[in-house]
Amino acid sequence: MKHYNVGVHHPRNRVLVFVTTNAKDPISMKSIQLTEQLYSYMLQASLKETPVQSELRETTALLPGAVMQIPPEQGQFMGLLIKLLGAKNCIEVGVYTGYSALSTALALPKDGKLLALDNDPQNTKIASKFWKKAGISERIDLRIGPALETLAQLIAEGHHNSFDMAFIDADKTEYQEYFEALMILLRPGGLLIADNVLWSGRVADKAAVDEDTVALRDFTLSLRDDHRVSTSVLPIADGLLLAVKL
Ligand code: SAM
Ligand code: CA
Repeated sequence: MKHYNVGVHHPRNRVLVFVTTNAKDPISMKSIQLTEQLYSYMLQASLKETPVQSELRETTALLPGAVMQIPPEQGQFMGLLIKLLGAKNCIEVGVYTGYSALSTALALPKDGKLLALDNDPQNTKIASKFWKKAGISERIDLRIGPALETLAQLIAEGHHNSFDMAFIDADKTEYQEYFEALMILLRPGGLLIADNVLWSGRVADKAAVDEDTVALRDFTLSLRDDHRVSTSVLPIADGLLLAVKL
């Protein structure tokens, strides 16, 4: 099989990387390809970030797990969806250093709330510091612990149908279980956003059978066929799956 290298923008770490593809699988012309030049233009032309959001990205870029942070245009897009929904109560599974949570909280009204779940007390310390700096820390309730346990606790406490928006971005092998819990916690008409469903393209590679890739593939298919939701996959950042609870 003939292979050639194509320089593309890697959605999760915002650097130019070379992806090996083969001549029988040319770049799709259906969605625009982001070269580094076009990506820079897009950010310059449309990104509106607060100074604290920029500073949080700069601080996180120095950490070994920096690729886990969502890109800024995704934060802005999620903020737009939150405003469109008129959301007041949001929940996030997977906080890391808090960029997606900060973007969410900034888009919420003053009395809005975000329940933020993560099992890592270290990186979330950075998150809390920046939330405070941004003046929105009273909107965020951080719960440290295994996300499935926290979600089960919320269900046991009776928070049924009470969230307007949920963002899933933690353990890829647990996405389906987060989704099942969130289907109880989200209100009808509520929006679920699942991150990384295109997984740098690995989901389309039949030879990729690692557990994260398989879980993301199964998750996307299972939601497509789930009558409780309507879904759409957007090829922005590392692939976003949007699902509205019917
Ligand atoms: N949304 C974040 C952002 O914008 O920077 C990135 C989240 S990062 C991809 C995934 C996070 O999920 C990590 O901080 C990790 O500690 C957390 N995580 C992974 N497995 C978890 C679990 N079982 N329970 C709770 N948190 C978990
Ligand atoms: Ca992610």
